[in-house]
Amino acid sequence: MYLHQFTCGTEIPFQLGKILCVGRNYADHAAELNNPVPEEPLIFIKPSTAAVDMAKPIHLPTGHGSCHFEGELALLIGEKLTNANATEVAPAIAGLGLSLDLTLRDLQAELKKVGHPWEKAKGFDNSCPLSPFVKLDWLPDWDKLSYSLWLNDELRQRGKTEHMLTPILDLVAYISSYFTLEPGDVVLTGTPAGVGELQHGDKLMMQLQGDWLQVNTEVA
Ligand code: ZN
Repeated sequence: MYLHQFTCGTEIPFQLGKILCVGRNYADHAAELNNPVPEEPLIFIKPSTAAVDMAKPIHLPTGHGSCHFEGELALLIGEKLTNANATEVAPAIAGLGLSLDLTLRDLQAELKKVGHPWEKAKGFDNSCPLSPFVKLDWLPDWDKLSYSLWLNDELRQRGKTEHMLTPILDLVAYISSYFTLEPGDVVLTGTPAGVGELQHGDKLMMQLQGDWLQVNTEVA
């Protein structure tokens, strides 16, 4: 899968790499699932095979219980980062996008109960719909970004980066202390409160920073 970042119609393709994700990066989401707030970022990985174009219909897996949407801000990494500090992270972010961290919630609960890894509940095929990525010509105020998700015309999630428990640049720096990030890797930055189960025929809309980006999709 190729990702596109664009400025004034110029597209630069990246081959998609791995997808790094963080659990419970917003206190209100941890609370809605009765999870404690972790003391350190809770990191997991989705394989590149989990990614699909968000604008195409979402195909839910069958036979594994409920599948929840988690609307998230996504970062496209443009430079190699190993043990980076926050100052080094900012210029290495090549684009901003939107994503859905689809989660098999019943299966995840079963796996958590017995202390097993979450991968099957988080990294299955099609579990990571991704929007195109917006390339910025300036360094944004990382703590002043916002995004929203509507389900069937009802506003369900509004994420503000100022509410992240681990802010964007610190989060990417932390990830890079365990996993080298390479150009084409994507970081999902966690979901705010308002997650819920998807049903066939549901319509979703996501917006980044008002009018920077809008994606519409539906569940097949
Ligand atoms: Zn998530």
